[in-house]
Parts: sequence; C-alpha cells; structure tokens
Amino acid sequence: AAVEGFDIEDVEGAIEEAGHGPLPVLAVIGRPNVGKSTLVNRIIGRREAVVEDKPGVTRDRVTYEAEWAGRRFKLVDTGGWEQDVLGIDASVAAQAEYAIEAADAVVFVVDAKVGATDTDEAVVRLLRKAGKPVVLAANKVDGPSGEADAAYLWSLGLGEPHPISALHGRGTGDMLDAVLEALPEAPAQSFGTAVGGPRRIALIGRPNVGKSSLLNKVAGEERVVVNEIAGTTRDPVDELIELGGVTWKFVDTAGIRKRVHLQQGADYYASLRTAAAVEKAEVAVILIDASESISVQDQRIVTMAVDAGRALVIAYNKWDTLDEERRYYLEREIETEFAQVAWAPRVNVSAYTGRHMEKLVPAIETALAGWETRVPTGRLNAFLGELVAAHPHPVRGGKQPRILFGTQAGTKPPRFVLFASGFIEAGYRRFIERRLREEFGFEGTPIHISVRVRE
Ligand code: GDP
Ligand code: GDP
Repeated sequence: AAVEGFDIEDVEGAIEEAGHGPLPVLAVIGRPNVGKSTLVNRIIGRREAVVEDKPGVTRDRVTYEAEWAGRRFKLVDTGGWEQDVLGIDASVAAQAEYAIEAADAVVFVVDAKVGATDTDEAVVRLLRKAGKPVVLAANKVDGPSGEADAAYLWSLGLGEPHPISALHGRGTGDMLDAVLEALPEAPAQSFGTAVGGPRRIALIGRPNVGKSSLLNKVAGEERVVVNEIAGTTRDPVDELIELGGVTWKFVDTAGIRKRVHLQQGADYYASLRTAAAVEKAEVAVILIDASESISVQDQRIVTMAVDAGRALVIAYNKWDTLDEERRYYLEREIETEFAQVAWAPRVNVSAYTGRHMEKLVPAIETALAGWETRVPTGRLNAFLGELVAAHPHPVRGGKQPRILFGTQAGTKPPRFVLFASGFIEAGYRRFIERRLREEFGFEGTPIHISVRVRE
C-alpha cells in the first residue's frame, strides 16, 4: 500500500516489524555467582546496579525482550534463583528444569576460573536429555590469560566453550552470534503450528488463591497427564482437561502443586514458573483471591500476561466467603488497580462451592476470539477516517498531526501500525485504542499500536 509521503519499502518494513509473531525464548542458566545476572544485564543493556539487589528475591520481571544483530528474542533471567534447603544441586537442577522447559535455546554459564563442578556436570545431563540447543559460556575470562581455563570446559561435552567476560564485555558479541545460530526463528510452541491442537491455558495467580482447588473442581476425574520431563521431575507438566465438551491443555500444572521444600527464593521461583507457563499458553486465566485486597503481586502477574501478549481472563475466587462490605470494596479496588485491563472478561467463582464454573469456558472463548480478531484494512481505514474527522488530534505548535492510514499487521494479539503526518501524543493513542475496542471488540486481549511518522 502506498501512503502519501511514505516510501513503499518503509511501509512494508513497518508492517512486517509490527506484525512479528511470538519471539523465541533464550534462557541463561548456571550455578549461583557464575555471572548470569551480569551477562543478562550486558545483553539487555541494563544498569549493573540491578545485580546488587540479589538477596531481594522478589523481582518484577524474569523475562526481557532483547535484540542482537537485528533479531529479537526473549531472555529468561534465572539470576535471582536462590539455593533452597535441599542444597545447591537440587536448586540448580530445578532452575535448569524450568528454564529448559520454557526456552527454545539455552546459554549455560560456567565460571571458567573455577572450572566444571559436579553441579555443572549434573546440569549437562539435564541439558542432554532435554535436547534443546545449548551455547556454553565460559565466563570470567577477563583477559587472554584466562583462555586456557575456558579450553578445559571442552570436557563438559557441550562443544566449544565460548570464553567471555560478562563484566567487561569481552567475547560476548561472538558468543551471541553463536546463540543466534542456535536459536530457532520462532518458538517451538508457535501458534501457527499448533492450529488444531488443544488450546493452551495457563492458570496462574499468587500462592493460595485457589489454583489447585479450581483445577480439581473443573477437571473432576478427567485429569489426564500429558507428559513428563524424564528424570527431572515426577510432576505432570501439562494436563488435558475436558470442559464444556472441548479438550483444553492446561500448561505447567506442576507449578500449581505445592513444593514444600521451597523456602528461600519461593517468590522468585513462583515468578519464573508463572513466566514459563505464560510463554507456553495462548490464554492466561488469572486467579485472584477476592476475599483479600488486590496486591502488588496480583498486579505483577497481570502485567506479565499482558506484556507477553496473551489473551486474558480474570477470575475472582473464594466468592463464597464475601460479605456485602467486601464486595463493595472489591469493586472499588478492581476499578483502580485493574483499570488497565478493564477489557478482560471477568468471572466471579468459588472453587469451593463450584459457583459459576460454567462461565469459565465462555470467558476463555471470548478472550481467544478477541485475541485472534483481524480487521480488514478497508474497514479499519473507513473507521479511522471517520474517527479522525470527528475527533482530530489537538493542534501543537501550529501543526495538526493526522493519521493517514492504518493496517493490522498481525494477530495473537492484534497488532496495528498507524502512519501519521506528525507526532501522535500518548493521550490520543489511548483514545484510538479505546475507540478501536468499542468498534471491533477485542475483549480479553491486549492490543499493540505502533505509529510511524512521516519524516
Ligand atoms: P549469578 O549469581 O550467576 O547471577 O552471578 P552475578 O552476575 O551476580 O555475578 C556474581 C559475581 O561475579 C559478581 O560479583 C560479578 O561482578 C562477578 N562477575 C560476573 N561476571 C564476571 C566476569 O566476567 N569477570 C569477573 N572478573 N567477574 C565477574
Ligand atoms: P493455590 O496455592 O493457588 O493452588 O491455592 P489452593 O487451591 O491450595 O487453595 C488455598 C486455600 O484456599 C485452600 O485452603 C483452599 O481450600 C482454599 N480455597 C480455594 N478456593 C476456595 C474457595 O473458592 N472458597 C473458599 N472458601 N476457600 C477456597
């Protein structure tokens, strides 16, 4: 499509970029103190101060969007992992297990100054079994004299050790080139290839909101374990459950079970687990304990699902315990704390009494439908034309930026590119998003809008 004042290639490039599908996921794993966080910071260009907050295990995020040599991917940071009471081996093995499950490729970081330890060898066995591509990073090689240390790591049998200094950046570029070679273009769980299979649901929420109770209630006797990661866990990972006559895949249900041995780092563990489940799912059902105030942790989980671009349903559980006063305050909290996801279908349930269980599936179907909605370009531009004529952008510095043309570049979630004659203010972008939702639905889905401005 030609747009006045835009080069045709720019337009096509913008549409392609905005329409990118799900990004492949790279996990950085390794023992504590080998330099994982330092490496992650270097890759995403984050300030080093973040490494310092180590003992505070609650981190806002565990996945980041990163880019190298023009390719974008998601990076899973396991640097916040703490050794649990079962000791370092069990802790590192569990970390590796989750990261491997969520990732399309792995960077395994070893401290070249220390050399390969028994724990490192144990991780290698997990990596071999999982069969995911691995790049071995021999870290703390700060100068040429350390290269020999790195060479010893050939003994791990993972191929060439890449000598790097995460701290100073030495060798990290070459290593990232190797990572990009190992990383598939699209995630294994790519939505395109999964058409026809059961839809994937992540049931998430902070501890004790009622996730396992809900799963048991809806599944009854129907629970079927789909697979197990051999040797790493006896917990089921995904389960097929029939609801409303349709088979659904509940991903990562192992995270719903209680792991009593997790003491230190439990919050971090929960975040990583949640991120892994969200990555694997198409729709996130976020469970909130309606009997308690909506917490920062609840909001973080919502943000995680929205940032990942997943369809979203919010279920308020323990409805059986609510009195009139609590119901009043809950509504006020929802208005203020969840204003940014007012588009998400909502169900008020009780895993205990079974209240409104039958409303869950229609809500999930609504969210998935919104997530997959595609607006034809002609209809979109007719709508934009009327909108812009009726509500023009405010005049700034004597000029009035106009939206010239728009197109939906992708779905799952819907992604739009708008071409404009000047800078479009945030308030006006939000206004457009609101009106798009009013006009075309998009219930239960985040939508992305990027704006290209004519030079
Ligand atoms: P993590 O526990 O694996 O995330 O490790 P951190 O990234 O927190 O690093 C542990 C320690 O090793 C910190 O004191 C870092 O400054 C240090 N470190 C990390 N990378 C390097 C490196 O390339 N060279 C040197 N000399 N020290 C490093
Ligand atoms: P999870 O950690 O999110 O899996 O939460 P659980 O399913 O283990 O539930 C935590 C606690 O909340 C348990 O004591 C449950 O019996 C209780 N619970 C879960 N759902 C409900 C509900 O709908 N009503 C009431 N009253 N209690 C519930």
